[in-house]
Amino acid sequence: MTELQLDGRAFINGERVAARDEQVFDCISPVDGRRLTAVARCGAVDIDAAVSAARAAFEDQRWSAQAPAQRKRVMIRFADLLLAHGDELALMETLDMGKPIQHARGVDVNSAANCIRWYGEAIDKLYDQIAPTARTALALIQREPVGVVGVIVPWNYPMIMAAWKIAPALAAGNSVVLKPSEKSPLTALRLAELALLAGVPPGVFNVVTGFGTEAGAALALHMDVDCIAFTGSTRVGRQIHIMAAQSNLKRAWTELGGKSPNIVFADCPDLDKAVQAAVGSIFFNQGESCNAPSRLLVQDSIKERFLEKALALVPAYAPGNPLDPATVMGAIVDRAQMDSVLRYIESGKDEGARLCSGGTRALAETGGFYIEPTIFDGVTNDMTIAREEIFGPVLSVLSFTDAADAVRQANQSVYGLQAAVWTRDINQAHGVARALRAGTVHVNQYDEDDITVPFGGSKQSGVGRDKSLHAFDKYLETKTTWIRIDSPV
Ligand code: NAD
Repeated sequence: MTELQLDGRAFINGERVAARDEQVFDCISPVDGRRLTAVARCGAVDIDAAVSAARAAFEDQRWSAQAPAQRKRVMIRFADLLLAHGDELALMETLDMGKPIQHARGVDVNSAANCIRWYGEAIDKLYDQIAPTARTALALIQREPVGVVGVIVPWNYPMIMAAWKIAPALAAGNSVVLKPSEKSPLTALRLAELALLAGVPPGVFNVVTGFGTEAGAALALHMDVDCIAFTGSTRVGRQIHIMAAQSNLKRAWTELGGKSPNIVFADCPDLDKAVQAAVGSIFFNQGESCNAPSRLLVQDSIKERFLEKALALVPAYAPGNPLDPATVMGAIVDRAQMDSVLRYIESGKDEGARLCSGGTRALAETGGFYIEPTIFDGVTNDMTIAREEIFGPVLSVLSFTDAADAVRQANQSVYGLQAAVWTRDINQAHGVARALRAGTVHVNQYDEDDITVPFGGSKQSGVGRDKSLHAFDKYLETKTTWIRIDSPV
């Protein structure tokens, strides 16, 4: 068994480098509160260096001019390398952000590798168009890479969130500068090394580590970045659009927060399955999922029975050491996030919701950051815990009378990321799904997921879509070339 090597230096132009002024910050493991390593605290000058490297690589076409079939081969090698280093990457992810090792290995590594492979395989199957103009001209409608893509991602699924953006951006021939979250920077740096090993030329994929207001803002404001692809909170997403507008009007794509409603009608076809999905999905990844069904709306007549069944499942989600392969709920990413979740729990109690389970910190003796799986009943949409994204293992249970009431309450949110409806009535399922303002609506399940399906939100959950062929729209510019045809025949 080899020992895990942790290198917190940035990755610019194919090399590991310290921040120009040698500043670092501590990378703390939420598993036990201990320091893992020092990470480069990049600032504007480092972002400049990374963007310059990316620009130079784009201009000399060392990547963009490679045939799509060749880029495909490299992307597939890149995906294979992720799998070959799966144990190492999973361990790094778990130590860095606290998710259970079984999920880091079984979900995060596999899903990121699958994403990279899928976009690699897709890129040599896309065709451009010829417009139906008069015969005196030929109008070619072609899609070309936008150039230098800045990517800023959060800490909840560090590898997957990065892969959703870098895979289509790189496959399409762009150069990329990725800034991972300061709370989980390690796997992104390793991904860049593996990409280089796979054959992505130096300068094409750079990773700069550091804080949002320093490295992140410098990237979003940079005059030589053509597109910024962001996943994170709605608060910062708003800043990203402002910074894009303030600088060079770079294209800004934002995947933001959610407060997803999960609507269960009394005619739900399988109540046990609905209970399992409601509980399993809110506690998966410690509740740190943008699409977690954090507002559970249950029809009055079955609310008590549903809640009873849900509470019976809670002990199975007791937090444990994320490195134990049996653990299903791990640590909250850091102390600040744990404290924020605990403050929301206090606000729920203060505003009159009924705490049915959890509500407290757990495993404090480990030095790590853990919270008991928490369920509030008697929640109404005007309460803070129903309106704001908590991003922790906290389920708010609301009730409704009929379909109109369910839709009204579900849509009463600034967010519109996902929603679910459980009913055996096909008309009700369709009608409610159509009326819900959300990027994705699930019917009689919550966990289906596939790289072929677009992911993103309506309202303040963001702009644009990750995953599927739709994601290419963010990283390709449409160009028309008019060619005059003076044909003698
Ligand atoms: P965050 O907005 O605090 O940070 C996200 C990233 O932005 C980090 O890399 C951070 O360093 C950077 N950042 C912070 N301030 C910045 C600034 N002023 N300028 C530029 N960059 C800045 O979010 P978070 O706490 O890391 O992640 C949780 C959020 O992400 C939740 O709201 C969650 O819903 C959202 N999320 C959304 C999706 C989606 O696909 N819709 C997926 C995962 C997470």
